[in-house]
Amino acid sequence: KRKPRIVILGAGYAGIMTASRLTKAGMHQEAEITLVNKHNYHYQTTWLHEPAAGTLHHDKTRMKIDSVIDTNKVNFIKDAVKEVKREEKKVILENGELEYDYLVVGLGSEPETFGIPGVHEHAFAIRSVNSVRLIREHIEYKFASYNNDDVKHDEYLTFVVAGAGFTGIEFVGELSERVPELCEEYDIDREKVKIISVEAAPTALPGFDEELVEYAMNLLESRGVEFKINTPIKEVTENGVLLADGEEIKSHTVVWTTGVRGNAIVEDSGFEAMRGRVKVEKDLRAPHHDDVFIIGDCALIINEEINRPYPPTAQIAIQQAYTCANNLKHLITGKGEMDEFKPEIKGTVASLGGKEAIGLVGSRKVYGSSASAVKKMIDNRYLFLLGGMPLVLKKGKLNIL
Ligand code: FAD
Ligand code: NAD
Repeated sequence: KRKPRIVILGAGYAGIMTASRLTKAGMHQEAEITLVNKHNYHYQTTWLHEPAAGTLHHDKTRMKIDSVIDTNKVNFIKDAVKEVKREEKKVILENGELEYDYLVVGLGSEPETFGIPGVHEHAFAIRSVNSVRLIREHIEYKFASYNNDDVKHDEYLTFVVAGAGFTGIEFVGELSERVPELCEEYDIDREKVKIISVEAAPTALPGFDEELVEYAMNLLESRGVEFKINTPIKEVTENGVLLADGEEIKSHTVVWTTGVRGNAIVEDSGFEAMRGRVKVEKDLRAPHHDDVFIIGDCALIINEEINRPYPPTAQIAIQQAYTCANNLKHLITGKGEMDEFKPEIKGTVASLGGKEAIGLVGSRKVYGSSASAVKKMIDNRYLFLLGGMPLVLKKGKLNIL
């Protein structure tokens, strides 16, 4: 009898941890496991604000898939997923197709534009190694261009970050640390450079602890960041951004961080979705699909205490991978039980560049260098879960204090 085929789409937190958990449970003996990813490496989305600003080399955020997944146990295919044909139980790839008995969709997210004109054409996004490498190169190019042109273009040195959610704030934190170095390197006065964080809501980090938000904003302002709060962006052009209040900010660098939606492939494949995310059953399967698990940023789960969706995070994606691997094991071997997924939110910590951060750990507020140390420990813990101590030593953040 042929073994059941498990196909995992995407090797982000959700996908790679599912593959890792399945092999640790010996499931490669019971099933044929295939992992498909666009690149031959796994990258840590949660670190991408750093290489985007140029404060960390992008190679620190990525690792070859065959260095963390045993490819004798998991068949790895480097290819881009195009579509899931649910009825035929098939996945269409750019260069082929795959049949499955069980599918795990872990294709991550894409930037939410809310249909605002010009975002796709003129703004940068923090979403992959490729996209952040481009941001870093572009920023350096603008610094290099400034003194090379006889006419001085202030817009070369104006950096607009759209959205002051966690991604926007973390990126602004890194950029505000990097700018003094760039000024030194390219002989530019710090005063010439503007970093502007534009936020639609009445505060940065809406919904987060007010005291911590104030700490973050004060710190970033002390590094020269300007905030434009209560100011939705209504258009991005090749010259900058147009704000809802009619103001135009001239800028050659607009980084778009106004939130995410699930990978469009999910909706395009006919799964019922809200902002690209499928409201999954408690066992993480798509409604009416006994053979499809959807996890990570493509999945929507509700926080029943407040009756609102949980924000998509790596923390949840990793926990879902554990449940998903367990439930696949149950379906295939009949052993154990189907688990209901219940996130265990340990806290939220956001870096602000250098040795600064803010966060809630449980209900405790942390900020400054102790929060930054916690943040690095969270980053290292993930590496430990994936590849043990050797991976922590190779890719971890070891300068904790
Ligand atoms: P991802 O980790 O993004 O992985 C998706 C994978 O799918 C990628 O490897 C990609 O290459 C692959 N893929 C995509 N499309 C295709 C295709 N068509 N074919 C094949 N492969 C494909 N969350 C936290 O919990 N804590 C944090 O501190 C935190 N910080 C963040 C900082 C930043 C700058 C950002 C942007 C996000 C942060 N998040 C954080 C959110 C977190 O990164 C996401 O929730 C998490 O990455 C979701 O995991 P995932 O596996 O669903 O997607
Ligand atoms: P987000 O939804 O958290 O924040 C987006 C921000 O953009 C909001 O504050 C929103 O008001 C603002 N915005 C929306 N439209 C706008 C407009 N037209 N003009 C100006 N501002 C606008 O999204 P994100 O920051 O991209 O984060 C994505 C996900 O990743 C979230 O779930 C977040 O919790 C998670 N994340 C977590 C961390 C962490 O834990 N350290 C870090 C980064 C991201």
